[in-house]
Amino acid sequence: MCKIQNSKSSLLHRAYITPSKFNKMDNSLSHLCWHGCSETGTLIHLMWQCPAVKSFWKEVISRLSSILIVKIPLCPLICLLGSKVDNIQSTRIQCIIALAFLSVKCHRSGVEC
Ligand SMILES: [Zn+2]
Repeated sequence: MCKIQNSKSSLLHRAYITPSKFNKMDNSLSHLCWHGCSETGTLIHLMWQCPAVKSFWKEVISRLSSILIVKIPLCPLICLLGSKVDNIQSTRIQCIIALAFLSVKCHRSGVEC
């Protein structure tokens, strides 16, 4: 299994060790988000709800929409799980979008694709 598939599998099976989980294992460890927003660092918060992460995905969506001249909705299914964009009929554009999100996720996690 390649690293990105392993990462997706870990996400789907909630295998990521988050601050919230670390805190349950050891009370001396902080339960707060790693991005410094002072919210509890749950999986959904770290992957989508954190303001720092949300602004990152907004920027990615904005740039990709601008380059491809399409409207891509800000949606975790598209950004995190690679779902197709409903309003885009072109298979080529769908593939470019999927590859772009894969590239962004690899770059963020330090995985070489
Ligand atoms: Zn946060």
